[in-house]
Amino acid sequence: MPTDLNNFTILRNVLLKKGVKLVVVSKTQTVPAIMEVYRSGHKSFGENRVQELVEKQKLLTDDIEWHLIGHLQTNKVKHIAPFISLIHSVDSLKLLKEINKEAAKNNRIIDCLLQIYIAKEETKYGFNFDEAKILLHSDEYLGLNAVRIIGLMGMATFTDDKKHIRKEFHEIRNFFNELKLNCFKNKPEFKELSTGMSNDYNIAIEEGSTMVRIGTLIFGKRN
Ligand SMILES: *Cc1c(COP(=O)(O)O)cnc(C)c1O
Repeated sequence: MPTDLNNFTILRNVLLKKGVKLVVVSKTQTVPAIMEVYRSGHKSFGENRVQELVEKQKLLTDDIEWHLIGHLQTNKVKHIAPFISLIHSVDSLKLLKEINKEAAKNNRIIDCLLQIYIAKEETKYGFNFDEAKILLHSDEYLGLNAVRIIGLMGMATFTDDKKHIRKEFHEIRNFFNELKLNCFKNKPEFKELSTGMSNDYNIAIEEGSTMVRIGTLIFGKRN
């Protein structure tokens, strides 16, 4: 499926006006297809599998900002720690500790989002609200100094029920605000809410998204 650069340009301008960041989800897409988007002036790309991400990172230019958006196994953190720009999918303290360890080895501070479970589906990873609060108040987390939590990520239920999707995005936004007040009071870096994909990004933005992750709208349907 060819990249729809026309759609992409329109989308990018709409998001730019609203001040919402765009992560172009390039999973399963070829390097030439990514290059096409890159050449139009876009530098943030998201992948959900470490191996695919690392292969593409080697082949593409160094000024691309890579985002990991899918579930991350602790034993794979070391492969992306030298270059990853943002990890959207932190779903356990164990993983956060591993990221901290590998970040320190690379003399980096790695930006992360906590993935929050908001959908009515069994298969999705993430913390519920209570688990996230427990993590953020734990001494173990507070002792990590090579990771920086800059916000939350969430995926809504895959459904046509727009009201339901809105409710889920609304809930994660409220939770974000609560954490901002209680756990990140003097931390201006805690400002990102990564919600919204091709089918629900408009609702996500209306409900406070600062960062959308979009693949299908730009590249067409994945095989
Ligand atoms: C694949 C994926 C997306 C993009 O989905 P589209 O429907 O193609 O826009 C966004 N976020 C995550 C976590 C994904 O795995």
